[in-house]
Amino acid sequence: MPRIIAIANQKGGVGKTTTSVNLAAGLARARQRVLLIDLDPQGNATTGCGVDKREATPATLEVLTGEVPLSAARRPSSAGFDVLPANADLTAAKVLLLQQERREFRLRDAIAGLEDGYQYILIDCPPALDMLTVNALTAAGSVLIPMQCEYYALEGLSDLLDTISDIAASANPGLHVEGVLRSMFDPRSRLARDVSEQLQKHFGERLYRTVIPRNIRLAEAPSHGLPVLDYDRSCVGSTAFLTLAGEMLRRHHLKAT
Ligand code: ATP
Ligand code: MG
Repeated sequence: MPRIIAIANQKGGVGKTTTSVNLAAGLARARQRVLLIDLDPQGNATTGCGVDKREATPATLEVLTGEVPLSAARRPSSAGFDVLPANADLTAAKVLLLQQERREFRLRDAIAGLEDGYQYILIDCPPALDMLTVNALTAAGSVLIPMQCEYYALEGLSDLLDTISDIAASANPGLHVEGVLRSMFDPRSRLARDVSEQLQKHFGERLYRTVIPRNIRLAEAPSHGLPVLDYDRSCVGSTAFLTLAGEMLRRHHLKAT
């Protein structure tokens, strides 16, 4: 059975897509079979792994509406993992799903119809607690929350944690926080260190030891349609995502034994 991880935070621009694409690449480097699902109409994860979003049909929309099975819409990326692409058409899903039965279960049902073979399925969520994110949280086993260590970062976190609890109490009993990731971290900033300390107190072991530093290479890589590991293997961003993949695999290995 694959581990299905939603990468979610309703705050915009906190590093969800950067984490999705580069963690997928890091896990793939560690010989894991990975599927990355782009669940955001912005389609940034799609572009970030080299798929042209204008030509990406069928895509996540057609899978959610049940027009095609997931296996017919996913495709290999050059980065060593498969991707289910998305584009602006996915905006229509929010309205289309309202008329459908089991509307919050559409993604879970689509994944259940997939043959085995993936070790990891990562879901890049949009910056909203909307029906798309609800589909991700209903399909996932756990949630990875990227956070910027800034003043407003903790605001809104309780809404996300409440949503996770609500879904765990109803549609998806096993759902839990996989981990909290400090993204775009600047160790010289006093505020970043203070927020980091609060996160440590609140989340303890669930706060990843690995920190993703602010790194220009991470921001440049998507414009080349590449995960950072394929763009500049030796930059600090690449090292950070390889370390994060290792930390995740170690945690899962310890849990499994
Ligand atoms: P959205 O909420 O719009 O989906 P997001 O949470 O997916 O955004 P990203 O798109 O990953 O966030 O990142 C926002 C911006 O910050 C992007 O331009 C990205 O390239 C840049 N960025 C992300 N992480 C880093 C980093 N560690 N160092 C430098 N730039 C970064
Ligand atoms: Mg994004």
